[in-house]
Amino acid sequence: MLRRNLPQVLCLGLMLVLAVNLLLLFHTKETVQKLIQRGLHEEPHRPPPERDEIVMDRLAHLEVVMQQLKEDMKLAVKQQANVQDTLKRVKDEVHPAPKTVPHNVVKTKKPQAPKKLFPDSALFQRWGEDLPEAEQRKAQDLFHRFGYNVYLSNQLPLDRSLPDTRDSRCLQKTYPSQLPSLSVILIFMDEALSVIQRAITSIINRTPLWLLKEIILVDDFSSNGELKIPLNEKIEFYNQMYPGLLKIIRHAERKGLAHARNTGWKAASADVVVILDAHVEVNVGWAEPILARIQEDRTVIISPVFDNVRFDTFQLLKYEVAVDGFNWQLWCRYDFVPQTWIDLGDVTAPVRSPSIMGILAANRLFLGEIGALDDGMLVYGGENVELSLRVWQCGGKIEILPCSRVAHVERHHKPYALDLSPFLKRNALRVAETWMDEYKHMVYLAWNLPLQNSGIDYGDISSKRMLQEKLKCKSFDWYLKNVYPVLKPIPIHDIVGYGRMKNSLDKGICLDRGPVTNNIPIMYACHELGSQYVYYRLTGEFYVGSLVAEVHSDDLCLTDPGHREEPTLEQCSKAAQNKLHIYWDFKQGGAMVNRDTHRCLEIRREPSGTYVPVLQTCTAQVWEIQYTLGNLSQTNVL
Ligand code: UDP
Ligand code: MN
Repeated sequence: MLRRNLPQVLCLGLMLVLAVNLLLLFHTKETVQKLIQRGLHEEPHRPPPERDEIVMDRLAHLEVVMQQLKEDMKLAVKQQANVQDTLKRVKDEVHPAPKTVPHNVVKTKKPQAPKKLFPDSALFQRWGEDLPEAEQRKAQDLFHRFGYNVYLSNQLPLDRSLPDTRDSRCLQKTYPSQLPSLSVILIFMDEALSVIQRAITSIINRTPLWLLKEIILVDDFSSNGELKIPLNEKIEFYNQMYPGLLKIIRHAERKGLAHARNTGWKAASADVVVILDAHVEVNVGWAEPILARIQEDRTVIISPVFDNVRFDTFQLLKYEVAVDGFNWQLWCRYDFVPQTWIDLGDVTAPVRSPSIMGILAANRLFLGEIGALDDGMLVYGGENVELSLRVWQCGGKIEILPCSRVAHVERHHKPYALDLSPFLKRNALRVAETWMDEYKHMVYLAWNLPLQNSGIDYGDISSKRMLQEKLKCKSFDWYLKNVYPVLKPIPIHDIVGYGRMKNSLDKGICLDRGPVTNNIPIMYACHELGSQYVYYRLTGEFYVGSLVAEVHSDDLCLTDPGHREEPTLEQCSKAAQNKLHIYWDFKQGGAMVNRDTHRCLEIRREPSGTYVPVLQTCTAQVWEIQYTLGNLSQTNVL
């Protein structure tokens, strides 16, 4: 209903804007200033600009608002035409015009909800209930190409309002009147035009314009046609309102996101750079905390707090303040805020963070001094950890600012690579080799790679070595102890074997962690994924499943429950405390014998033909582990 009345509503809006415009044009400067000063009272941190500047600023802004209203109106008219068209089609389908049908067989059907064409698609789980079939196809196709709901994004206003997700105490904060200038960099590869425009609009509308020096778009060789001439036209349009504000740089080949971020950084000229994904909307008051903090300390790299724009409904989901961390595969994740921050009792205070997620703000020159982004990180993944380790180890710091909020679309899938793991793995090794010193084996273990001859080319790291010398960077050991004690590395000599475990009865199946819903290991067709990673420690534990090696969460230990034949997986430290039977003797090509119960882990063929692991009196079954380190026979007592 609302949508049908939208053109009228927008007309009214347009009239209102025109009236305000006339008021501004024909009133005396004093009246205008009074009006604006009232506005200034509400935002005490703004420096008082010149009066003429104010009027010009306001007019320019109003012009943009009007243009946006016009665009919204065009869109609404188009949508209404679509809706009417669709309604007509639905009506025609439900009540087809009687042709030569004999009147005694004409029956009236009840209008039916359109059939769900893609019931399994993630797009249609919470959205698109009544969408006609042709529109469902369009929406699904766009979703498949972009990983978020472009169909819906194309209908939402570019300047839509967002809930203010800041803590109310952020609103009481004041900032210096003099703040550094800002370059905002948006990088993209095949993102939807409406999404990029909404990002730009949010930046223009929610950043103090006298601080916003430029918005630099970096196109990492998109193939999407609407990002060519149509995007250029939009840029021209914005630049008519704000001369020189928008710039675009286009890569002639795909370089990956670290390189794209660097391209933007090189082109930037303001005091501070903020590097954003293209599918974001900055929220109210996002920039001031960043600029003020970097003004205080030029060596701090900042991340705002992200809220999640749902990929299907585009609704905003508020996220609590968290710090950015990572695991031993160098996958990023959120961690709890540190107790020291909670003890401060100030929810607006910066939070020290071990890492960033990708989006970042920094003093432009300082970012250069520590080497900017590493161009040698390919496509996606790990580049955030690389920068984070470099920042911490080479004299900077990382903080999350709770009062700076950016809404970010968490995509359902990445349109640029179906399987990102080859890039993540390769980039993770590059980080390990560059920054992790004697702990680098943890990354190899976590990715289940041999320590030597992994067959993965992580590129040239000599420039990073020079940088380490020049900046006298600290060690990874220092980082672990002082910045990220959550990670708990295992000394290399403590691991005697790792990888997949195969039994002599059938080499096509491997020991597997099994469904995460229970802690019963299974035998399963061998594959490359984490559920079949096994780590055998010198002390006798077998960890089964992806490596954890952290302080607050435990690896799972293969356990003989003692009383039945089914083995279990128990959290190692609890199991050790409770004196469960988690210690095993094993040597390559030998039996797996529990040290307490003396039973063997073996496999048995079920009537169905599948194998299950069982604990029983040892027969002649033997096992092989994929990689061995040191002398496996040392632990063997057989
Ligand atoms: N991107 C890019 N080149 C690439 C891959 C990604 O410029 O080869 C851009 C992408 O369009 C996005 C940003 O890099 O603006 C971050 O990527 P993405 O959002 O997929 O990462 P996530 O936020 O999920 O970590
Ligand atoms: Mn993103």
